[in-house]
Amino acid sequence: MKFYNTLTKKLEDFQPVEPGRVKMYVCGPTVYDYFHIGNARPFILFDSLRRYLEHRGYKVLYAQNVTDVDDKIINRATAEKISPSEVAQKYTQAYFEDLEKLGVRPANIQPKATEKIPEMVKFIEQLIQKGSAYEVKGDIFFRVKRFKGYGKLSKKSIDDLQAGARVEVNEQKEDPLDFALWKGAKPGEPHWPSPWGEGRPGWHLECSVMSMEILGETFDIHGGGTDLIFPHHENEIAQSESNTGKPFVRYWLHNELLNIQGEKMSKSLGNFEYARDIIAQYGREAIRYFYLSKHYRSPMGFSHDLLADSKRAVERIYNLLEGLASQVKGQADDLKLDPKKLSDAGKDFLALIEKTREEYIQSLDNDFNTAGGMGVLFEFVKEANIFRQNVAPSDLPLLKEALDLFRELGEPLGLFQESPWMQSGSESQEKLIQLLIQLRNDLRVKKEFQLSDKIRNQLQEMGIELKDKDNETLWSYVRK
Ligand SMILES: [Zn+2]
Repeated sequence: MKFYNTLTKKLEDFQPVEPGRVKMYVCGPTVYDYFHIGNARPFILFDSLRRYLEHRGYKVLYAQNVTDVDDKIINRATAEKISPSEVAQKYTQAYFEDLEKLGVRPANIQPKATEKIPEMVKFIEQLIQKGSAYEVKGDIFFRVKRFKGYGKLSKKSIDDLQAGARVEVNEQKEDPLDFALWKGAKPGEPHWPSPWGEGRPGWHLECSVMSMEILGETFDIHGGGTDLIFPHHENEIAQSESNTGKPFVRYWLHNELLNIQGEKMSKSLGNFEYARDIIAQYGREAIRYFYLSKHYRSPMGFSHDLLADSKRAVERIYNLLEGLASQVKGQADDLKLDPKKLSDAGKDFLALIEKTREEYIQSLDNDFNTAGGMGVLFEFVKEANIFRQNVAPSDLPLLKEALDLFRELGEPLGLFQESPWMQSGSESQEKLIQLLIQLRNDLRVKKEFQLSDKIRNQLQEMGIELKDKDNETLWSYVRK
């Protein structure tokens, strides 16, 4: 497997510290608002990468932090007239709800910054002892020039940075490049005790402390958007390597950003749409496909037309799956593949299945080129649609093989896992199901049980299960 490493600017063979195990950290959200659809890109990317590494036999330990103390949270608290911790709680919960709707599996470990304050204080003390940090009136700063490797990730030179640095009024720092590790408490802000008085940690420090605590002093993959390379990730390297004297991270992976009319989608520019609204409109697979059908290092544009295109692309695959499923309906368990019994066309199709699997893996092994992988799948869709039209009875097991192929190859990307008849999450689908439930309940009131059972059974066949609880009917997808 190969990855493009931002640190070396090269495509490199992937060799984790410990063979067979991958330790991976991705910067998590600052929980002051719902996340926007552009923020969803790294969440979907690294969720998929983690699943794919597992698919390829690695044991993955994945950590992602939650930044629950920050200026933005404090400002939001003032605006919403609640406490900063209430803001953090509210949007942390919303964050996990939205991830679930996107089919993003929770990381193995999800530390909150406020749960690791003593560890952060200890880390700062060590940096002060080593001469890499200093105190000015209750604030602690990192001494950037003391770290020789500064700029190695972002490829910025100290001289250029120095020339561009803005000297702020009331500047307390020794050098304008130095950044805060600890901020002395201001009135009304959340604060924790430290040897330098009450205060709170800086954002860069959080990630260094939490990632190394969980994954060790040198770990395999650190991910995030390209907007985090400087200064956030550059500062993480400086702090961590100054403290341990060891390389912090082996492979730095950065996704490009989502643009809207040529500008980065961001809260501060006001040109964003909330992920939860987009999920409600298009469903999760359309959004996952939207991102994964492009290479993660390509910038992408956002528009509703593009999302509608993605939805149609996913539907094209589900149409094939639906066709295949109806052809093997009721006999899927009896269809054992015996290559010797296949027709010539069947033998070719079996070879195509194997080639598709191989080329798909090759694509994803090459810097996680999911766009290439999708191309391979769509080639297969074209051929499979032709093959299934005039299939010989002896070749029927191949249709089941083709169905299984989509489940197998889609799983790492969180795609094509639904019942072929139903894609989850779209608003219109939800309304249709509710309508059928209502209809069934009306029939039951009229004691037309034959008809009401028919609705229930047909839904069950489509992969939707109804459960009557008290006076309510709940529904869920049947997981295969
Ligand atoms: Zn971070």
